[in-house]
Amino acid sequence: MNNKHPASGFSTRAIHHGYDPKDHHGALVPPIYLSATFAFPTAEYGAACFAGEASGHFYTRISNPTLALLESRMASLENGEAAVAFSSGMGAIAATFWTLLRPGDEIIVSQTLYGCTFALLHHGIGEFGVQVRHVDLTDLAALQAALSPATRMIYCETPANPNLRLIDIAAVAELAHRQPNITLVVDNTYCTPYLQRPLELGADVVVHSATKYLSGHGDITAGIAVSSHALAQRIRLQGLKDLTGAVMSPQDASLLMRGLKTLALRMDRHCSSAQAVAEALQAHPAVQWVTYPGLRSFPQYALAKRQMKLPGGMIAFELKGGIEMGRRFMNALRLFTRAVSLGDAESLAQHPASMTHSTYTPEERAQHGISEGLVRLSVGLEDVADLLADVHQALAKCSRPSVRPAATAAHVLR
Ligand SMILES: *Cc1c(COP(=O)(O)O)cnc(C)c1O
Repeated sequence: MNNKHPASGFSTRAIHHGYDPKDHHGALVPPIYLSATFAFPTAEYGAACFAGEASGHFYTRISNPTLALLESRMASLENGEAAVAFSSGMGAIAATFWTLLRPGDEIIVSQTLYGCTFALLHHGIGEFGVQVRHVDLTDLAALQAALSPATRMIYCETPANPNLRLIDIAAVAELAHRQPNITLVVDNTYCTPYLQRPLELGADVVVHSATKYLSGHGDITAGIAVSSHALAQRIRLQGLKDLTGAVMSPQDASLLMRGLKTLALRMDRHCSSAQAVAEALQAHPAVQWVTYPGLRSFPQYALAKRQMKLPGGMIAFELKGGIEMGRRFMNALRLFTRAVSLGDAESLAQHPASMTHSTYTPEERAQHGISEGLVRLSVGLEDVADLLADVHQALAKCSRPSVRPAATAAHVLR
């Protein structure tokens, strides 16, 4: 694929990589190839495609020109060799697991994970003979002790959804690669390659829910896996083609490429606004604690500075009064939308224990560092003054005594 801008900056590649209008009738925006199948010039060529001896598109579940452009752009942004597009983040994660793990293998995973990844591990591959071990990956001695000859994969999110715990990718990669046959897979959804590039730090595969910041507009579900050519080929031919069939649609690839054009701009704004919201929460007497990698009080502040370009757009916090007060806060919001997902232009608020992380039992949440009162904010692209005003007015409703005078309560009941 042509590439006029191989050594250029992040945003230039996000906008131009792999595409030249003069190859496409001058079309500024890459065309969408809707075709499910592709004509073979000869029967022999078709057979060669299926034998892997000819490279060419032949069926969209395996490859498609629009998907191939997106994949080469994502590989460039993550500084990997190749990428595979999926219809969702879970599609990318499931395809990576099913390709690289077999019964008898062990996977070491970080303590806190997105709810459906946790469910896939415990109700999916964990029930098919793969041993799943949760290890505190911030504790390198614990990781070292957990490694065994059967370990085939280490998997983590950093920052973790929803509690924002960080993993030192370079340190984990160094330990992992002392042993042959261990693949380190990092879910980079919270950061995007603009803020953090795990492959540069030694990871072998990066997976994304491209539903979130990468697309950035909440109008598609999509996933991506980025790695070496060899690993991507295995993930494509096993995980995508046969084991999940979770292929991205070419229309969604086009929307995702539109999102990528503004990724750096959007991430800068998400980060600066989240910093302001986190500081406002921290200063408020109704707030019990706030976790945000840009706050000096963040327990892994030094690692955040070292590993991430900026602290991201996600905040976790808890109000004094826990889950009940958290619900009151969420119901009082006017500009933030009560919704799951993240990384959209719209600011979103959700309650992981009853929503995205309800796949954990209450005991599992306690064990994995997800408190019942945690409220998760995805700080969007609205004017920061309006976001702050909304948070302040909602917090004001959480500072009043929680029990209304009896007369008022009776009045409300009527
Ligand atoms: C949303 C999310 C996923 C799953 O992605 P989908 O696109 O919803 O399938 C995986 N990991 C993280 C960290 C997420 O936030």
